[in-house]
Amino acid sequence: MRDAGRITGEAILAAGEAIKPGVTTAHIDHVIKTYIEKCGAIPTFLGYGGFPASACVSVNDEVIHGIPSHARVLKEGDIVKIDVGATYRGFTGDSARTFPVGAVSDEATRLIRVTEESFYAALAVICEGARIGDIGHAVQSHCEKNGFSVVRRYVGHGVGADLHEDPEIPNFGIAGHGARLLRGMTIAVEPMVNAGTHEVYEMPDGWTVKTKDGKLSAHYEHSIAITENGPELLTRVE
Ligand code: MG
Ligand code: MG
Repeated sequence: MRDAGRITGEAILAAGEAIKPGVTTAHIDHVIKTYIEKCGAIPTFLGYGGFPASACVSVNDEVIHGIPSHARVLKEGDIVKIDVGATYRGFTGDSARTFPVGAVSDEATRLIRVTEESFYAALAVICEGARIGDIGHAVQSHCEKNGFSVVRRYVGHGVGADLHEDPEIPNFGIAGHGARLLRGMTIAVEPMVNAGTHEVYEMPDGWTVKTKDGKLSAHYEHSIAITENGPELLTRVE
C-alpha cells in the first residue's frame, strides 16, 4: 500500500508540473499514464468500469470523473481536479488534488484551500476507534462554516486490493455515529466541495459529474492507513 500510494502521489505531482494554460486534459492524462507505467505499476482507472483514461481530469464546475480530451484546452483562471489511482503488486493508491491554472479568482483560491483544510480537519480526528461519522462531521462542518457545500452523492471509501472497498466514507455525518476505524484499515478520504449547491448531475457521456448550478467544485483526496501510531498518509509525497 505504501508503494502504490507513493507512485500515485508522484503521478499527481508530475501532472501538477504539466498543468499550464494551453495544455489539453489528454496531455495531463498522458503524463500520468507514462509516469505510473515507468514505475512498473498499472493505471487503476484505465478500463475501470469502462473508464477510457488513466486519470479523471475535471475542470471548473466538473466535480469528478472528467474524461481527458484532446479537445479540452486548459486556460488561465481554470481550476483542474486530477484524480489518480495506481496499482502496484496487487495494491492500490487513490489520490486527488485541485490545481489552479495560472492566476485564478479569489473565490477559486479560497475553495481549493478550504477543501484541503477540510481533509486535514478530518485527518485530525482519524485514529483507531474513531467513527466514520467523525470524518464526515469534520469535513462538512469546516466547509459549511466557510460558506461552501459538500457533495452528498459521491463519497470516500475503503481502498486496498480494490480501488473501492467498504466502508463508504461520506463527507457529511454526525460525530460519534457509524462504524469504527480499526488498526490496519486503509481508507480514501476525499472531500468534494462545491462553491454553491451540493447538488450534482451526470453528463450524457455517462461519467462527467457537474455541479447543478454551474459553480466551481474542488476535490482533495489521500489514501490513509490506520496504524497504532495514528493515521499514515500513503499518497502524500511532498
Ligand atoms: Mg480518487
Ligand atoms: Mg477515491
